[in-house]
Amino acid sequence: MKIKSILAYEILDSRGNPTIEVRVQSESGIEARAGVPSGASTGIHEALELRDNDAKRFGGKGVLKACANANTIIAKAVIGMDVDKQKEIDKKMIELDGTENKSKLGANAILGVSLACARLAAKVQNLPLYKHIRITYQLTNLPTYQLPTPMFNIINGGKHADSGLDIQEFMLVPIGLTSFHEKLRAGSEIFHTLKKLLSKRGYTVSVGDEGGFAPKLKNSEEAFDVLIKAIEGAGYQPGKEISLAIDAAASEFFDKEKYLFEGKTLDSQQLIEIYQKWAKKYPIISIEDGLAEDDWSGWQKFNLQPILVGDDIFVTNIKRLQKAIDLNVANAILIKLNQIGTLSETIGCIKLAQENDYKVIISHRSGETIDDFIADLAVAVGAEFIKAGAPSRGERVAKYNRLLAIEYVQ
Ligand code: PGA
Ligand code: ZN
Repeated sequence: MKIKSILAYEILDSRGNPTIEVRVQSESGIEARAGVPSGASTGIHEALELRDNDAKRFGGKGVLKACANANTIIAKAVIGMDVDKQKEIDKKMIELDGTENKSKLGANAILGVSLACARLAAKVQNLPLYKHIRITYQLTNLPTYQLPTPMFNIINGGKHADSGLDIQEFMLVPIGLTSFHEKLRAGSEIFHTLKKLLSKRGYTVSVGDEGGFAPKLKNSEEAFDVLIKAIEGAGYQPGKEISLAIDAAASEFFDKEKYLFEGKTLDSQQLIEIYQKWAKKYPIISIEDGLAEDDWSGWQKFNLQPILVGDDIFVTNIKRLQKAIDLNVANAILIKLNQIGTLSETIGCIKLAQENDYKVIISHRSGETIDDFIADLAVAVGAEFIKAGAPSRGERVAKYNRLLAIEYVQ
């Protein structure tokens, strides 16, 4: 089925900043849309998110240039192509852009078209998106469709809130529960128990960018302590049913070869020792971006029991992941579609990770839309985990609710 039209336009993301939505239509009149997310603690090696930098519109954050690129250069090349040929569509856009980081057309423009085409192809074939993705990329080594375990970010710090916490995300991981709906229920119950606990202690219970609370706690240990209390208070067993995870987003507190963390100036070894201490004291199963995006020598020494996840260091980029494999760095990868800019490159990176026994965590961005593509992506590739924020705020629960629908309906 051929692509008849492409239309890209500005919408608002969950922070109220402009982003791109793309609508693609088939010759038979079927249409599909995709919204593109946007990060705040972005890695410097990510593909370029093209913004207008016109101070008169949206404080310079407009995306009219990216929309125009999709509506003209990309549309001209892609209209008339077969919508089933996702790999060819993505390849065509990569070639049209011609740069290493998609800085000519913008990764936001390219990704919007890439995802909208995938969704349209699934619709045309009357297949759920996750099945279409699995078939398209021949992910046949995966026997059944399994739902990922959610990582609920229920205390927000770093660049996502003004809580003053240096660690960006404190997450609940209901690893000991079996069904997705039970995991989601636990996330919600603990979230509400935490709200009451924080209120009682006199903290504010307004939420940060990813739907978690943003209390002005003293330090990380206070956050872990209150999380354990919330897990118990909701009737769950910490460490058995519910574990903890963090995203330190350490590039954000890395400055001139040092980590400026909770009032101290540390080298990578000293920071690793703090993580080690926490991992002994609390049921932490995963540490994301424990070190900075270019601190490769630190990462090589970073070898703890919890799962070690690379986000900003890998940026869903197959070359950076290959370097990590060669250097024996980390053992899990965070996957964000807009860090690289096409579905096909994202799947390529996931395949390399899986072939090398890296765990896969599909992730949202802190600036999101109600688009739930990542839920289907996680199921399609058999990801162990999905990170889509707290079980709160529409753009976060959209992903979790899509997973519920997959669990119950399909
Ligand atoms: P970002 O945060 O979307 O602001 O980059 C998410 C993360 O660091 O995992
Ligand atoms: Zn991260």
